[in-house]
Parts: sequence; structure tokens; C-alpha cells
Amino acid sequence: MLDEKKPLMRHERIGGIAVMQEKDKEGAAGILASRPSVHTVLYPVSAVSGKYRTREFIVLAGENTTRTEYTEYNLTYTIDLATAYFSARLALERQRIHAMMREGERVLDMFAGVGPFSIALADQASVVYACDINPAAVLLMQKNIARNHRKNIIPVLADATTLPAILPPSFDRVIMNLPLSGSFFLTYAYELCRPGGTIHWYVLVSEKGEQLLDIKQLGARDVFERMVRSYSAGRFHTVYDIVKP
Ligand code: SAM
Repeated sequence: MLDEKKPLMRHERIGGIAVMQEKDKEGAAGILASRPSVHTVLYPVSAVSGKYRTREFIVLAGENTTRTEYTEYNLTYTIDLATAYFSARLALERQRIHAMMREGERVLDMFAGVGPFSIALADQASVVYACDINPAAVLLMQKNIARNHRKNIIPVLADATTLPAILPPSFDRVIMNLPLSGSFFLTYAYELCRPGGTIHWYVLVSEKGEQLLDIKQLGARDVFERMVRSYSAGRFHTVYDIVKP
């Protein structure tokens, strides 16, 4: 029997899914019973891995699914935690970048996933190219573009390294959210950004300023660095806003 006075086990909520850090079926049943909007409690049995940055899960309680609906600032996304990456932790970042934009900008989202940056920024943009290498992510992105009534987003199923060969180097803003790749893709983003445009590069660092040398080697001088959140012991998720001279 569930003890109603027992505090709920630690979990992260993403729409109707709760993700627990412990494999605790009783704790999962407690979460399901006391959170009416939760339909499934999951436990990750792998780290975020592979080029699609996905995880494997087992269901501890509730419906047998890894799919759910998630709403952020009045935009609703269908997500599937097992087939395409999604994190709610950059919600504020999407708003910060939206607030920096001028109407009519051309935006490139190089690692778009199911589309949260592209869809959040589209109402300020003339066009958004939203690229991802994972077909499952692009399918969900197409669904999310339609359900949020965005008409100016072009989904691109591709490896981001091929983009300079197929897109013009004319973007006012380039979003790079693939933090574990280090600086590998930075030269591609730089090529696609117009002079005076801005690249938002999300990357993991151990200390402030760690990536400034790589950025300055590209010729950029106007750089703003912001720690987004703590990632793991001694590592931080950081964003560099880089203006191409
Ligand atoms: N921007 C999305 C978000 O905030 O939810 C997704 C970010 S996720 C950390 C990185 C995404 O990059 C994944 O969806 C993965 O499939 C995609 N990806 C990985 N390597 C790629 C590549 N070479 N070209 C294009 N997309 C890639």
C-alpha cells in the first residue's frame, strides 16, 4: 500500500513523463498516484549517447510509452525521449535569444532535434532552417512545426557538415546546440553566418573562458559568455554568443 505521507522520490518532469534517478517501482507508483498529469514514470538504463544523443529507458509505472506532450511558453511539442533528444533545461535560453532578435532575421538551427529553438524563434524570423541528422527527430519536428502553426521553418535531414555546400552563407543567427562536440562544428557555423551575424554556441567547459582561444582564432572579437547550468562535477553548460566581424 502507498504511504501518502512519504515524500515523493526525486524525479524530473517532462510533460506527462517523470524520469527517476533511482530504479524504485514503489517510488514510481507514488509519483504516478500523486501527480495526475503524469502518465508514465521512466528510469534511464543508459547514458545520453550516440550521434542522436538519445537514452534507453524502462517503464517503472504507468503507460508503456516514452512519448509525451510538453508545453513551454505556450508552444506544445510532441517528444519521444527514446528516439530523439529533448531537454527542457534550455527553455530560458530560447527566450533570451528570442529577445535579442530583430524582426525578419534568417536563422539556422544546426542541431535542431524536435525543433524547440526553431519553433520558439520562428515568429521573429523570416526563415528558419532546422537541421538534424536523426530522422526520428525530424519527423517529430515536422509534427511540432505544424501543430504550432509555423510556416517559415524548413526542416533539413542532414549532417551539419554538409550545410555549407547546400545553404548560402547568409544567416543572421546560427544556433549550435550539440555541447559534447566541442569546437568541431564551429568553422561550419562561421562559414554559414553573415558578417555581423551571431552564433550561439552551446558547449561544455570546466572553467570560464576555456573556449575563447578557439573563438578568437576564427577572427571573432565580440564574444559574450554565459554559464547556463552546472552539468556534472566541475563541468558547466555554457553558451558563447559570437559576433562574426
Ligand atoms: N536543439 C535541440 C534541443 O535543444 O532540444 C536538440 C539538441 S541535441 C543536444 C543535439 C542534436 O544534434 C540531436 O538531435 C542529434 O540528432 C543532432 N546531431 C548530432 N550530430 C549531428 C550532425 N552531425 N548533424 C546534424 N545534427 C546532428
